[in-house]
Amino acid sequence: MARLVIIGAGGVGTVVAHKAACYSKVFTDILLASRTVSKCITIADSVKKKTGVDIKTAAVDAENVKELSALLKDFQADLVINVALPYQDLAIMDACLEAGVHYLDTANYEPKDEAKFEYKWQWAYRERFEKAGLTAILGCGFDPGMTGVYTAYAAKHHFDRIEYLDIVDCNAGDHGKAFATNFNPEINIREVTQKGKYWKDGNWVLTEPHEIHKPLTYPGIGPRESYLIYHEELESLVKNFPTIRQARFWMTFSQEYLTHLRVIQNIGMAGIKPVMYKGMEIIPIQFLKAVLPDPGELGENYKGETSIGCRIRGIKNGKEQTCYIWNNCRHEDAYRETGAQGVSYTTGIPAVIGALMWAQNLWRRPGVYNVEEFDPDPFMSEVARAGLPWNEEFGIELEL
Ligand code: NDP
Repeated sequence: MARLVIIGAGGVGTVVAHKAACYSKVFTDILLASRTVSKCITIADSVKKKTGVDIKTAAVDAENVKELSALLKDFQADLVINVALPYQDLAIMDACLEAGVHYLDTANYEPKDEAKFEYKWQWAYRERFEKAGLTAILGCGFDPGMTGVYTAYAAKHHFDRIEYLDIVDCNAGDHGKAFATNFNPEINIREVTQKGKYWKDGNWVLTEPHEIHKPLTYPGIGPRESYLIYHEELESLVKNFPTIRQARFWMTFSQEYLTHLRVIQNIGMAGIKPVMYKGMEIIPIQFLKAVLPDPGELGENYKGETSIGCRIRGIKNGKEQTCYIWNNCRHEDAYRETGAQGVSYTTGIPAVIGALMWAQNLWRRPGVYNVEEFDPDPFMSEVARAGLPWNEEFGIELEL
């Protein structure tokens, strides 16, 4: 029995609210709070229609620690699922400490004025959460999230030592728009325009953006050009599995997407520093977000599927072993169930299952943790039931 506060009423918040309501015996009281309360109300109406569960709504500026901690205290919250933006992570963690509430998120903190993806800011909260007897679970979406759980599961059951890890992320869906991002455009464009980075024999190797690419074959989809980019879970996975010699992250992009991205960058629209426009400061990428399609609205016409997983090579009983664990998710199915597209769906379900693990005392210990530091087994069973079944194959050619 837990009182749950969901922060953020975007695409992922929509899925989290619908799925959390399916566990109403565990999450007995749910409050959805976000900057724009009308979006919370629309989601709450849909949850009521689809599941019969009432959820409360509230307006909150999650960057205002006092305002948020007062809301958490007033609701007598036990756990926050933070699916607002990465900029708010630290303020929400501060509010949780102030109000004595446990914490879970799906993306690591980013400062607004610098596109940097590092856990150092959030890991620095470890002692404060320990002292307060509170658990913080970081990065519990799909990637990061499911990918860390897959790695922990493979390490527990299939390998004595993991040496090579490649996370492969394919979205073979078609939303019918010339250009749109699958989650918050500002966060997405900051992420994919970064330099690439991967782990090799104890060091980080930097690459130019999209410099390394090759076709990879995705189950049920076929070959898709896949680009090496940096992704935040690599940082925690190489720390938590120190036998890993090489860790990389690959994401598919279409030529059309990359062409749009190049133009956006070349004309300065991906900029994160303020510029003056008619006497007013604007941040180009925030203006761009305002004119791009809302990722939360893509679901209705989205066709096709995502395929995300881990391709792992290592040693088992003295012999080389390979393993591929993955999930495929159809955008149409996600939309039918929650009114959101597949990327929001595959992010929101692991967040709810992480919260469930916490509520069942399976993933609960004071401090700040990444998902792979907990027992993957109960999570893997439940996440499959909740809508993200997984597949695994062994002894196969990994292409990497
Ligand atoms: P959206 O932009 O659709 O939603 C973000 C929501 O947060 C919006 O409702 C927004 O409010 C709200 N918000 C923003 N600032 C504040 C604030 N200061 N106070 C309160 N609420 C605020 O994003 P998504 O739903 O696509 O993504 C949500 C999170 O999930 C992001 O952090 C993203 O990085 C993460 N993510 C993680 C993935 C994973 O696999 N791990 C994959 C995809 C996303 P408003 O409606 O007013 O704008």
